[in-house]
Amino acid sequence: MRVLLVSPAYPSTFWSLEHTLPLVGRRWLLPPLGLLTVAALLPSDWELRLVDLAIGQELRDEDLRSADVVMLSGMLVQRDSLHAVLRRCRQLGVRTVVGGPYATAMPATLADADHLVLGEAEESVPELAADLAAGRARRIYRERAKPDVRRTPIPRFDLLDLGAYHYLPVQFSRGCPFLCEFCDIISLYGRRPRTKTPAQLLTELEAIRRLGFSGRIMFVDDNFIASQNEVRRLLPELAEWRRRTRAPFDFFTEASINLADAPELVDLMTAAGFAVVFVGIESPSAESLRETRKLQNLRGDLVAQLRSLRQRGLDVWGGFILGFDHDGPDIFERMIEFVQRSGIAYATVGMLTALPNTPLHERLRREGRLRPDAETGDMFELTNVVTKLPEPVLLRGYLRVLETLFAPATYFERCREHLRHFEPAPELARAATLADLAVVGRSLWRQGVRGSYRSAYWRFLASALRMGTRKLPLAIAQACAGHHFITYARETVAPRLLAHLERVGREGDADAPVRGGTAAAPRPAAAAS
Ligand code: SF4
Repeated sequence: MRVLLVSPAYPSTFWSLEHTLPLVGRRWLLPPLGLLTVAALLPSDWELRLVDLAIGQELRDEDLRSADVVMLSGMLVQRDSLHAVLRRCRQLGVRTVVGGPYATAMPATLADADHLVLGEAEESVPELAADLAAGRARRIYRERAKPDVRRTPIPRFDLLDLGAYHYLPVQFSRGCPFLCEFCDIISLYGRRPRTKTPAQLLTELEAIRRLGFSGRIMFVDDNFIASQNEVRRLLPELAEWRRRTRAPFDFFTEASINLADAPELVDLMTAAGFAVVFVGIESPSAESLRETRKLQNLRGDLVAQLRSLRQRGLDVWGGFILGFDHDGPDIFERMIEFVQRSGIAYATVGMLTALPNTPLHERLRREGRLRPDAETGDMFELTNVVTKLPEPVLLRGYLRVLETLFAPATYFERCREHLRHFEPAPELARAATLADLAVVGRSLWRQGVRGSYRSAYWRFLASALRMGTRKLPLAIAQACAGHHFITYARETVAPRLLAHLERVGREGDADAPVRGGTAAAPRPAAAAS
């Protein structure tokens, strides 16, 4: 069998870092780990090829025609590209299989596909493969029970164009014990975390190392510390492997804020090579956190917890949401003040989105508060929720939050605050490579010489230098990432929000200007301290 695995393209989002990628010399952030795992589940004598549309690989009609079957996987946000490929396959008479989170959540929208793999693939894909070979494949293959990930094979990293990606992905665990109302992880993976064995994970990392990749590895676990006992078993082995092999990797993952309450676990992570953690902060409002059942964020002082992670050597990224039922008109100022005070440079602020198969989606469906017309999956464009805040107020407030947080001066002020409390872990210190120097050169040229925010950039670099050369690598990384956030907020999100505001009119607040505030707005008091 000849199988063509196709990963659909993504629209531009806060997460895509597309304005940063040219600075770091890569074409896309992450390859599709799901398809690489599916590839490993297929019979070893099948002929496989991967086309990743996110890195601009060409998908020609001849490629589609010469495949016995085209397999696609994607998320809701990749829907348009996925359907475009399906339509082409249908016109060319090519058999298709679709799996992944989008197919699992919304199978009814995939009438164009011949076969669907719903849920986790480990048990279904071998069965589908046998049925395809025997010419008796069914339309739907559904996960019967949560698979044991200790038997998941090593993803086929060898199918990748490795040089195209900023990070490479591995996955240690699936599932999360928490109950956040908007999150689909619980329905996709369950609440009881399942983990791979340390040896299994090290084999995956070794496979990546042998292929010659160097850079950042992302543990794509939705909550890396979902099972703290298993993580404590993994980390010493990971640290020892990294020391022994001198693997040129550092690690990035996502974790819940209770990581800050386990300082010895943070130390194990940095000793093993973890450099960055993304934390879902969601809101400065305790009522909104309670509403969305993010109770783990109510147990301490969030700003102090974030600071303690930085002091122990982790660079912290944060996710925030606007539009909860308990958000009042003051939420926008509170959000700006909180984000600045927390010093989270990479603050991805989006509007509440009700993903299918979440408790939030179910509640809003019962309340008649869903907007199927706005179901893009892109929380930085529109919300599919009829929010309690009138839509014009939400859109205008969101615009103000983005224009303030990602004004160059405000962004770099946050980076400075972050660096002040950041203590780099000795395990992550390494000599600069030629590739690092090329990144510095591109950043200096494109941001410092040709950029539209040169003076803010140079002021930031000068202040970072005064904090010592140990912090410079992070400062350069912050500057490079900032290029995406600043450009994306200014050139993509703001015009889109203004267009939506024009559309919905000014009924939310007839006296307010469409552009409710800009970078020139008063800076949050705490940000200046
Ligand atoms: S902690 Fe994260 S992964 Fe877990 S339920 Fe909440 S949002 Fe989802």
